Amino acid sequence: MTDVRIKTPNLDEIFEKWKQSAVRSDKKKMEKQFGTKGAIFSLDAISAAEYVKDTQKEAAIYFAIKKTEGELAKDTDEETVLAPKVGRETFYSFKAQGKINKSDWKGDEIIPTYETLQPIPCKKCNGKGYIESKCKTCKGTGKIEEQLQVLTGEEQKKEVKPFSYSCGVCYGTGTSKEQCKDCGGHKNLYKYQVLPVPFKTVITGIPVLHSSALTKYEKEIERDLHQMIEEVEGIKFNDFKELESKSEASLGYWNKNIKKTISSAGSDYKDYSKDKEAQITTQIYLFPMIQMFCETKKGAKFEIYSLGSANKFMTYSNF
Ligand SMILES: [Zn+2]
Ligand SMILES: [Zn+2]
Repeated sequence: MTDVRIKTPNLDEIFEKWKQSAVRSDKKKMEKQFGTKGAIFSLDAISAAEYVKDTQKEAAIYFAIKKTEGELAKDTDEETVLAPKVGRETFYSFKAQGKINKSDWKGDEIIPTYETLQPIPCKKCNGKGYIESKCKTCKGTGKIEEQLQVLTGEEQKKEVKPFSYSCGVCYGTGTSKEQCKDCGGHKNLYKYQVLPVPFKTVITGIPVLHSSALTKYEKEIERDLHQMIEEVEGIKFNDFKELESKSEASLGYWNKNIKKTISSAGSDYKDYSKDKEAQITTQIYLFPMIQMFCETKKGAKFEIYSLGSANKFMTYSNF
């Protein structure tokens, strides 16, 4: 990176380049708009001086990013729940289907996965569902002891006789079973994992262009530039601060829109830097951009844009 000013292509060079490509893509239209009745059509007769009504010096900023869509979410989770809660959860399974297109997926990106569902025996009750303890009613004997008053003989002599019967709380076992509070009596708890949806990983290269020319054709220029970036010369920067401080000197001209464009491109760049799914894959390019407002003999208005230096530039037109 040097501070040397980048040379912009001159109008005739731009116009010439556009003319050649326009005649290649639609000669009939060129003849219709620029030809003279009775004369043989010649490209030489079509000059910038005659048809370019106004020009504007602008600038464009370009960088490319790579977006990895469908990368596995890092956060997974494990849930352990009571048995009745399992039925209230919604489980997902992708076993039969394989990988999913992220753009088609509606819903959460991490989901309870059916295949991971498994019972965990309750530790508190050792998987029995209840806690055994001495019956409080019979104090663990299984029997209720009582005394009977028996009046014996003619004298009705009082006698006390033992009488016992089986405990109605523990059914004579001496132990009572209380529902285990940890597992709710269901013997097991249930564990499952909340895992990322298995997305297909799609990597896309995305061009990002900001131009101060306020053109409707920014998307088209962006796409073309993305394909021929090596054939267009710009000034490359590693960071935005450097670009901001050197762009005016490098371009050799300046206006409000250029300043605005640089700052909006800068905040865009910052957003991409923070985006976990995006990766900036190029340096930041600053391009001189010339916008030419033209009008044909028939009165058809069109614009020609050039992007790049006098050495290497591309043209774009809505002709
Ligand atoms: Zn009992
Ligand atoms: Zn239990």
